[in-house]
Amino acid sequence: MTDVIPTPSIPRVPVAGGGTFPVHRIYCVGRNFADHAREMGASVPDAAERGRPMFFSKPADAIVVGHDDVIPYPPSTSDLHHEVELVVAIGTDAPEGVLPIDQAQALVYGYAVGLDLTRRDLQAAAKQKGHPWDAAKGFDASAPISEIVHAAEVGDLAALNLSLEINGEVRQQSLLDQMIWNVPEILHELSRLWRLRAGDLVFMGTPSGVAALKPGDRFSARLENVGERHGVIAG
Ligand code: MN
Repeated sequence: MTDVIPTPSIPRVPVAGGGTFPVHRIYCVGRNFADHAREMGASVPDAAERGRPMFFSKPADAIVVGHDDVIPYPPSTSDLHHEVELVVAIGTDAPEGVLPIDQAQALVYGYAVGLDLTRRDLQAAAKQKGHPWDAAKGFDASAPISEIVHAAEVGDLAALNLSLEINGEVRQQSLLDQMIWNVPEILHELSRLWRLRAGDLVFMGTPSGVAALKPGDRFSARLENVGERHGVIAG
């Protein structure tokens, strides 16, 4: 049978050193840093009673790759927020069933740094009404991302510094050891809900300091050992 429309293109992220990573799905973790949960007025789970992580997703074509490019200011919001995040790139299909924590790292191809752009006003309204977050989180161009760096070149994540500057001023900064759930734990929890596939990206949640982006703002997201993602919000 012949397709009746042109085939939609598969979004791809460049890989440091060459090649591209085709994107299958984008999963995102909510409230994975205690200081951010606190600033959002959410209850902060302690390590012993952290319960289960909260997930949402973005469409695969929400990613924006590039250097120093212009990111559109999205429609239907007057409160676009930045959230700088570690992004995990899955390189191998998970086995069927729940993924054991001690087997999770083997699925990781590499890491990137990205922004989980958020229409905070729409998110606040959705939270109040118990509505889904898709319009707040999964809009077009809501996930600017850096190149992906192979996991072996990044090494241990815990001591790495994640940061975001807006117009040269540091807005967000944290070591990755401040995450409530680490990467193998998150992949284990995701596997209880979805079968992880090669091509999946996981946005790991943001530290405190989220705030509004204005048209014309320049951002520089950085993750030690991984790299940088610069851009400007359309003016
Ligand atoms: Mn986020």
